[in-house]
Amino acid sequence: MKKALVIGVTGQDGRYALNLLSKEGYRVVGTSRDSIKAINQLCLKNPNLEILEWDLRNEVQIREIIQRVKPSEIYNFAAYSSGEKMYENPVDLTVINGLGVTKILDAIKEIDPKIRFVQASSSEMFGLVASKPQNELTPFNPRSPYGAAKLYGHNMVNVYRERYHLFACSAILFNHESPHRGINFVTRKITHTAAKIKLGLADKLVLGNLEIQRDWIFAGDAVRAMWMMLQAPHATDYIVSGGVSHSVREFCALAFSRLGMNYEDYVVSSPEFFRPAESINLEGDPSKLHAIGWSKSKSFNELVYSMVDNDYILLNNK
Ligand code: GDP
Repeated sequence: MKKALVIGVTGQDGRYALNLLSKEGYRVVGTSRDSIKAINQLCLKNPNLEILEWDLRNEVQIREIIQRVKPSEIYNFAAYSSGEKMYENPVDLTVINGLGVTKILDAIKEIDPKIRFVQASSSEMFGLVASKPQNELTPFNPRSPYGAAKLYGHNMVNVYRERYHLFACSAILFNHESPHRGINFVTRKITHTAAKIKLGLADKLVLGNLEIQRDWIFAGDAVRAMWMMLQAPHATDYIVSGGVSHSVREFCALAFSRLGMNYEDYVVSSPEFFRPAESINLEGDPSKLHAIGWSKSKSFNELVYSMVDNDYILLNNK
């Protein structure tokens, strides 16, 4: 039985990885900072899963974990997320999102260089974009501590691949969403508040810049792309995106229309949620990923509708 180590298994992407890998017949060992919560939520439902408590700050323990688990594949999702909170502790964020990657790569190199590794890199590394759409050759120009730290990790994947011939890939993930997305991200904020408004639990939705464009895809598709990278014959980096960008305004229009409402009656744009420096126009070209057989399973409309429907049902059942 193949074994996978999923670092950061309790977040949105970790959950989708767990589902996919279990279906593909893997035994999965996950790590989480909050193991008791994680075990309660996940292990009971999945006998093929074991969760270990581990924080990326601890570089000794990663070696012990890899030695004990002996995985054939490692997925790294552990990271502080983007958004306004990243400015609260940029030093800690850099230790986890950047240096954490080197700790894992170095442990792989020492313990078993045949382990295949995929890093969750980010479109935030493009920052002030040089051209549109972005591909694997587009220059990086991060505008945030999150993007800068992710870029360091991304570069180290390349360094270890070239210098030590590790099978190490970077998935340059564009924004990827699902009903499990955290409420602070704009997509879930929109779908959750639209459902609340429909049910009479809120009367408006206050957002920042409605003209920002993102290439949103379904998180399950993003994770499947990462798995496919590790089954490919050679290790390399891939853009993971849908190839189409939409504005926050368009997302609102679709989400509200799903519930029979006009977003213009409820959505307010306020400077409170504007970000001073950020990526304005992210759109990825997934051609290289298509070449290894990947395609997205959900359109933008299907993604928005699935999130709205889920929030409406959740709130209505309360
Ligand atoms: P990010 O791209 O990883 O930071 O993901 P987010 O979902 O947090 O933000 C996506 C885009 O939506 C960013 O460009 C935000 O500036 C924009 N946005 C506009 N209004 C809001 C808001 O109220 N909350 C959040 N989180 N983002 C907003």
